Amino acid sequence: MRPIIIAIDGPSGAGKGTLARRLASLLGYPHVDTGAMYRAVAWKAQHEGLPLDDDLALSALAVRARIEQDGQGIRIDGHEVTRAIRTPAIDQAAAQVARLPGVRAVLVERQRALGAAGVVMEGRDIGTVVFPDADVKVYLDASAEERARRRMSDAEHSASGGGDVARAAGRSGGTEFQPAGGVGAWCGGGGADGRWRAGGRVVGSGGAGRGSGGGDGGGCGGGAVAGRAWGGVGG
Ligand code: C5P
Repeated sequence: MRPIIIAIDGPSGAGKGTLARRLASLLGYPHVDTGAMYRAVAWKAQHEGLPLDDDLALSALAVRARIEQDGQGIRIDGHEVTRAIRTPAIDQAAAQVARLPGVRAVLVERQRALGAAGVVMEGRDIGTVVFPDADVKVYLDASAEERARRRMSDAEHSASGGGDVARAAGRSGGTEFQPAGGVGAWCGGGGADGRWRAGGRVVGSGGAGRGSGGGDGGGCGGGAVAGRAWGGVGG
């Protein structure tokens, strides 16, 4: 079978990782979390004492860094950073690094190379920029509240461990696969317990919604069909 590219886009906390990991494991495909690549570059920049607004230095770092992702976690130049990149400080640093055009260009190229032989790739620009012709595009979103709860349930992001709150809250939302060329993108959320339920809503094509959620992402808005961009990722 021809290798396929599955792009999972959407803001932080929508549940992209849970879905991507499951799909990858079902299909036997590699799973690439592109947010983790930005996070790892930010971590390494801090580790080397580089200023986070130095596009030239950070692009060079992004070119030379050995970034490895697998079921065990993520490493950059041999440093195991799986947990270290999931902190509020790295949330901010990664967002800063992800704004640098040079770093983006380097990482997008690396992502294209990683996905060429078939992949489940998640991130906020995968279906629009990295693989606009992906075979399957999923836009995953959840309410601002649900996304905040999901992030709280992430042990590294929460000193008090919000897992119980998140589990109790995981009742609404859903997700829907949207093959490229279909008739509408879906916007829905996943339950925080990791179970996916029906209930997404069609948001139309080529929308330009701005996010309403907190954190570093946008809310539900925009859509993509037949290769057209969606615009629902807030800043
Ligand atoms: O998704 P995650 O929160 O791990 O992403 C870390 C940072 O990298 C975020 O600021 C996100 O906006 C950015 N990012 C990006 N493009 C991607 C993936 C993540 O700009 N494809």
